[in-house]
Amino acid sequence: MPDQLRCDLLLTNTRYLAPDMTIVSGKSIALKDGRIWDIVDQDACPYQGDTVLSGPDLLWMPGLVDGHLHTSQQLLRGRLLDEKPVIWKRVNVPFESRLDQESSRLSALLAAMEMISCGTTGFVDAGGKYPEVYAEVYQAAGLRGRLSVMTNDNPFCPESLRAPSVPAAVERLRAMKGALTGLLKPIYSVTTPTAVSEELLRAVFQAAEEDGVPVETHMNEYASEVTDFIERYGKRPFVWLEDEGLLNAPMTAPHCIFLSQEEIEIMARRRVRVAHCPFSNCGKGVPPTPQLLHAGVPVGLGTDGSAHGGLDLFREMRLFRGVLNVTQGVGTADSSVMPAETLLAMATQGGAEALMEPDLGVLRKGALADLIALDTGVSHLWPTQNLVHSLVESASGADVRHSIVNGKLLMRDRELLTIDAGQVRREAERLFEKQPWLQSWK
Ligand SMILES: [Zn+2]
Repeated sequence: MPDQLRCDLLLTNTRYLAPDMTIVSGKSIALKDGRIWDIVDQDACPYQGDTVLSGPDLLWMPGLVDGHLHTSQQLLRGRLLDEKPVIWKRVNVPFESRLDQESSRLSALLAAMEMISCGTTGFVDAGGKYPEVYAEVYQAAGLRGRLSVMTNDNPFCPESLRAPSVPAAVERLRAMKGALTGLLKPIYSVTTPTAVSEELLRAVFQAAEEDGVPVETHMNEYASEVTDFIERYGKRPFVWLEDEGLLNAPMTAPHCIFLSQEEIEIMARRRVRVAHCPFSNCGKGVPPTPQLLHAGVPVGLGTDGSAHGGLDLFREMRLFRGVLNVTQGVGTADSSVMPAETLLAMATQGGAEALMEPDLGVLRKGALADLIALDTGVSHLWPTQNLVHSLVESASGADVRHSIVNGKLLMRDRELLTIDAGQVRREAERLFEKQPWLQSWK
């Protein structure tokens, strides 16, 4: 066997979701050196794989990317539903401030397990206290992602999370950047523009530009935050950032619910990457997504972390379709205001944008080999007259059979290969005995 015909993984006797959102059959996909090496006719496939995955009921597609999650809130699952706003100040930040390295490591392990199990292969974390601890876990798990430090200098912020000074905050971000390797890359962040000092906001955005690192911050998430911002700075958030010359670094902007037309135009011009978080946003408002897409703004999806209903992006797609249809589709009798193909593109290609990985989010020759396979033979997906529609209407993360990141199998037949799930469970139970507050945070 000539070396060029050997591949690490061969996917055969199967179908895949093509970049134009059609289903292609009769091909074999060869993965090698972390990339999609070749896609050839199945009947004339010259490749031999070290590992072969096959199955006529499987549908291969790009792995989903969570454009916004909070690793540090993984242990808050179940705590936030029906909680009054504004949740993050009253509950999330005080909770995060008490986490130590051990509980942070457990958070990352549980988040990694949940992501791999539901078809998420990449993520953008919003920033935590111990990104180096997260990095160690995510690297061993094999996931691709961007990590940050939670940066906040507001007096309301508990001392263990508060930046002691603006230079110290920037230094901390740079130290984190220096510690990340492999599939994990940095993103600089501030919690939210209205929660930090103007000096910190400017310093983080300027450091991102100087260091060639992308930047993120919760943007236009609550109507009250936009009016607070206007009261303080005299302009809407994106307009001020643009006028102050702070939008030069690539930016991922979670939420983006309350936007003016002027802001949408700035975002399109500056290629600001949006990460809507549909379930989390249901307590806040509905974003103008068709208008953002029409203007050419890259839009992805995020979960806002496990505490907002879990990390399953299939659920986020389905929910978002319902929300957009009720708010924008019904009144105009336009039932395709948020088509299935657009939602799938958001969770894959839009997520790759949020992650700033141009070779990701599509299943084509040469792209990075971050792929998942769904079992479409299950009773809620077969038979169907339109599998692309059914992926959005009926599929869930539990239908994902295999998960591959950078050409490496992370889950096979729903068995996690890089994390010992039983061991994590035992470690969690031991930690909950030692720190019972982790399960009953008031
Ligand atoms: Zn968030």
